[in-house]
Amino acid sequence: MKIYDLIGIGFGPSNIALAIALAEQSKRGHHIDTVFLEKQPHFAWHKDMLLDGADMQISFLKDLATLHNPRSHFTFTNYLFEKGRLQDFINLKTFFPSRHEFNDYLAWAAKQFDHQCAYNEEVIAVTPEHQGNEVSLLRITSHDADGKTQERLSRNLVVSIGGSANIPSTFQAVKDDPRIIHSSQYLGSIAKLTQAKKIAIIGAGQSAVEIFLDLHSRPNAPEVDLIMRGHAMHPSDDSPSVNEIFNVELTDYFYNRSHEERISFLNEFRHTNYAAPDIDQIEQIFNILYTQKVTNCPRHRLFTRHETQQVIAGNTVQLHLMALDKQLKLEQDYDAVILATGYQRNHYTALLQSLTHYLPDFEVDRQYRLSSTPDFKPSIFIQGASEATHGISDTLLSVIATRSHEIGEALASKQRSNVKHLPEHRIIA
Ligand SMILES: Cc1cc2nc3c(=O)[nH]c(=O)nc-3n(C[C@H](O)[C@H](O)[C@H](O)COP(=O)(O)OP(=O)(O)OC[C@H]3O[C@@H](n4cnc5c(N)ncnc54)[C@H](O)[C@@H]3O)c2cc1C
Repeated sequence: MKIYDLIGIGFGPSNIALAIALAEQSKRGHHIDTVFLEKQPHFAWHKDMLLDGADMQISFLKDLATLHNPRSHFTFTNYLFEKGRLQDFINLKTFFPSRHEFNDYLAWAAKQFDHQCAYNEEVIAVTPEHQGNEVSLLRITSHDADGKTQERLSRNLVVSIGGSANIPSTFQAVKDDPRIIHSSQYLGSIAKLTQAKKIAIIGAGQSAVEIFLDLHSRPNAPEVDLIMRGHAMHPSDDSPSVNEIFNVELTDYFYNRSHEERISFLNEFRHTNYAAPDIDQIEQIFNILYTQKVTNCPRHRLFTRHETQQVIAGNTVQLHLMALDKQLKLEQDYDAVILATGYQRNHYTALLQSLTHYLPDFEVDRQYRLSSTPDFKPSIFIQGASEATHGISDTLLSVIATRSHEIGEALASKQRSNVKHLPEHRIIA
């Protein structure tokens, strides 16, 4: 069986940026034989949240390449140039393209690595391959769309699988009911519920407000209740001073802080990324609610300081809510409930479960490499799951151009040191 230098799990922005970094490295003479495995049938960026009117929450200059190499072929600017839209985009005078356009940009970049990516392959296990007393390789097992099993061997692995839906414990028992929809499945699932007239959204972040506005403009005009535990929706703070925390230098600063300092930093800046919608969308919602008052046509409701305590999925989905300030219980019936409750980032530990013995604490070093026991030779890199050690940019696009080069450099330096330790005749061979 062929042995790859590197297998990448997932082909989202993080691994596309890595493919770009490795291609640039290869031109400088360090070739790393790589294949990426992606479970979707083709590239798509959060396809069930590609809502009309949704814009990027980050400057287009934080694309797959610019921050590391503004002269790269893979910049957003070059994409616009190749598509013949550079001047039209400039005339829009914006840093924030639509998510539809950014998805198209990412798909344009991904397409150029079709020869290195196997789509329709979901990785289900990573197991150790022993040579003597050492683990020398990894066996990566995946299922294709027909359920057929594929196996591949690799010297190294990079896991870039993004987040998985965070389902609050109250909803766990009913999570498979088609009327309970996590935001990550929104467009595909809501399309099957065209008759839903009364819908609840749980959450107060960007996805919650985007889904509220999307439902408001749907032809079947559903009534929507936006339910949140907090007192209010806090707008995201993207002022120039606060935005500095997303600069690439912050990764070193953050990595070198104590555990307590890191936690306090993350708490201080939580509202730059979590439960932090764009101000203009909050304003749109409040305009809609105000217009309802003027016209005396109540359709949507805002439930602040309310917590869901129980869910009963019968003829309707019944939410048992607690008004936290009044300590008052109320029951509400819905045709569908959307959970805009965010993502979890620890799913990679389940994927690497068979390696637990060699990866005692699942901690990454500065180069995003999991620490391992001395008898474990493969390097495993994790992208997008190290906010606790590498800072708030880790799950975003802000650092991907730089991070992928750091991982590429770590792989090249491992390859160089392996060659140095080979007997001379093998180097010549
Ligand atoms: C709706 C939405 C909007 C966002 N907007 C912004 C924004 O404006 N700015 C910003 O900085 N960040 C934004 N983010 C954050 C987002 O995490 C990053 O933009 C980016 O998607 C991270 O890239 P990634 O490759 O690490 O993860 P993902 O984009 O999640 O890609 C992971 C890929 O891995 C694949 N995969 C998962 N498991 C497996 C498996 N077992 N086998 C094979 N393939 C697998 C998935 O199908 C997916 O294609 C947004 C997130 C969401 C949900």
